[in-house]
Amino acid sequence: MDDSCAVCADTLEWVAYGSCGHRDVCSTCVIRLRFICDDRRCCICKSDSNLIFVTKALGDYTRTINDFSLFPSQPREGRAGPYWYHEDTQAYFDDLEQYRMIKAMCKLSCSVCDQMDEHHQPPNDNSKRRPKFRNIEQLKGHLYHRHKLFMCSLCLEGRKIFICEQKLYTRSQLNKHIKTGTSEVDGDESDRGGFSGHPFCQFCKSPFYGENELYSHMSSDHYTCHLCQRQHPGQYEYHKNYDDLEAR
Ligand SMILES: [Zn+2]
Ligand SMILES: [Zn+2]
Ligand SMILES: [Zn+2]
Ligand SMILES: [Zn+2]
Ligand SMILES: [Zn+2]
Ligand SMILES: [Zn+2]
Repeated sequence: MDDSCAVCADTLEWVAYGSCGHRDVCSTCVIRLRFICDDRRCCICKSDSNLIFVTKALGDYTRTINDFSLFPSQPREGRAGPYWYHEDTQAYFDDLEQYRMIKAMCKLSCSVCDQMDEHHQPPNDNSKRRPKFRNIEQLKGHLYHRHKLFMCSLCLEGRKIFICEQKLYTRSQLNKHIKTGTSEVDGDESDRGGFSGHPFCQFCKSPFYGENELYSHMSSDHYTCHLCQRQHPGQYEYHKNYDDLEAR
């Protein structure tokens, strides 16, 4: 087993795995896939993982769960036997701190409404009318209908930050963010940290989160040509589809 995450390449500190036992992906990547993309398949073998287990990555000493049916049945959010259970992602944790971190990462709240609360409500007023969201689509709907704001869906899937930390854009700011990364919301050069917009596929004209995502799209949806590669070794050249490649 490698000591970096098979998806994001960060150092593996916490792994999450299902009954197939593939302990190669960090808990943040697995939780994000389950929570944001609603994808419950193992990243390695693509088998459906109903339940997952999150534990510290210790190489060969990483805690192994061989029989997932031994977890408490019909668990509720929070403490479950010797574990903690996160309902939204159907994940068991053996560490309270990590459970709390993931729970905070998945918290769905509208940062605009949250800020208004802070400014306009006396601190001892408990009648919080802060909206609650059951899933990310509800939050997106609220942002649009209530505030006419958008999250960048590429950043939502690609950036490893809490959902409430995602930047909110008007439609024109979002377009600018995707194309050049220089909308008012993106901040100055140091805030952007070298970000200059999301890269586009030259064929589909659709944007991808980063170069890695664009690369895997190119290799799976478009075609590389051996002739071109022989002429310009090391340089990847793609064709829109197979017909385009044959037409040459
Ligand atoms: Zn990862
Ligand atoms: Zn697997
Ligand atoms: Zn709101
Ligand atoms: Zn973005
Ligand atoms: Zn494409
Ligand atoms: Zn070619």
